[in-house]
Amino acid sequence: MAKRGMLIVLSGPSGVGKGTVRKALFETGATDFSYSISMTTRKPREGEVNGVDYYFVSKEEFEENIRNGEMLEYAKYVDNYYGTPLKYVNETLDEGKDVFLEIEVNGAMQVRANCPDAVFVFLTPPDLMELKHRLIGRGTDAMDVINKRIKKAVGEIRMMRNYDYAVVNDEVSQAVDRIQMIIRSERLRVTRVMPDYEQMIGDE
Ligand code: 5GP
Repeated sequence: MAKRGMLIVLSGPSGVGKGTVRKALFETGATDFSYSISMTTRKPREGEVNGVDYYFVSKEEFEENIRNGEMLEYAKYVDNYYGTPLKYVNETLDEGKDVFLEIEVNGAMQVRANCPDAVFVFLTPPDLMELKHRLIGRGTDAMDVINKRIKKAVGEIRMMRNYDYAVVNDEVSQAVDRIQMIIRSERLRVTRVMPDYEQMIGDE
């Protein structure tokens, strides 16, 4: 049986740039993580593709998935559901491949409760004004939605203490470097390396 893969969770406040950093990380080509595509009831934004950016589903379909125990985690976020389908994550980890989640903080805490050996990375903004500018600059949300997101972000930053690592997103390329550093170190953890040696050293 293959050694189970590593689960890494990138989370942090809304608008901090999780999506941008995640995309940049995968574009380096230096990561062999499998990205878990989330499911959401939010409508696609311009340019977003079903099955690539998200699985876009109806509220009924999402709630059916919850009832059937098919979500690893889910959260209601600004009036929409977002969640991680369990099957893909489990199957991929079982194949020995590492899996990457990019999710908001409530969902991340559910993963922490269910998968204690996952690695939790908190992406943090240099400051809150910067965060507001980014949300406005993105130009995809109305002002009342932005204000709602900022209020939520303040509460979310307090949640940093529940994570293993904090990565400041001052510059995307630097944030990517920091995450790669974390991944490299995590792969060297004795608890992850030891199973490779267990057969050799026996049970004593
Ligand atoms: P957006 O609507 O901007 O794409 O995403 C809104 C928030 O939902 C972001 O913070 C994003 O990281 C988060 N999100 C995306 N997918 C998931 C998921 O599967 N589960 C949870 N809990 N949050 C998600």
